[in-house]
Amino acid sequence: MKSISMKQEKMPSDILVSNSLPSGRGSYCDDDDCRTQIPETDPLIMGSMTDAIHTMLEGIGENPGREGLLKTPERVARSLRFLTKGYHENPEELLKNAVFTESYDEMVLVKDIDLFSMCEHHMLPFFGKAHVAYIPDGKIVGLSKLARVVEVFSRRLQVQERLTQQIRDAIQNVLNPKGVAVVIEARHMCMVMRGVEKINSLTTTSAMSGQFITSQPTRSEFLGLIKG
Ligand SMILES: [Zn+2]
Repeated sequence: MKSISMKQEKMPSDILVSNSLPSGRGSYCDDDDCRTQIPETDPLIMGSMTDAIHTMLEGIGENPGREGLLKTPERVARSLRFLTKGYHENPEELLKNAVFTESYDEMVLVKDIDLFSMCEHHMLPFFGKAHVAYIPDGKIVGLSKLARVVEVFSRRLQVQERLTQQIRDAIQNVLNPKGVAVVIEARHMCMVMRGVEKINSLTTTSAMSGQFITSQPTRSEFLGLIKG
């Protein structure tokens, strides 16, 4: 009861909380819809990726010549390029382009940022939500850019632990704020579909800096807000 009323008192005045926008960035990749969004790819590289997927189809005992699979190698190659397009973007540059001088010095939190990534061990998806907070020290950044940083790092082969730290470090490096906190909650298809097959297991990782480490009240406030 106590913590709830404290939260209600503080939220409107002291803390800027933003639920991320739904990520409607055209992630329909079932056919050729993502053509315009994939990075430029050298035709030679695209050709060798397509060949490799053709070989993989043979390797699993399929017939790459049957009708349903004729375009699959090229489609999978394009899909992979889309899902890993974060290699071609620089998250720190992206943040630098949206930094403003501002005296606001309370916590800024963007929670429930949709996240889709692929584990580097199995190249299978993991997905969930990221919560990103920072305490400005003279500089703020456009809120949508925090979600973009999550996206850019997610669109690479990852482990969840490193992804969490990379997001923290990029924000720390560019804004030099009084503290950064990142929590990611995700489900890994390599655990759900194979291996231990724990359908509901959720992996949580966190990375923090500055006041989120040194100040227990700040840390508790953040953790309370992302649960709400
Ligand atoms: Zn994995």
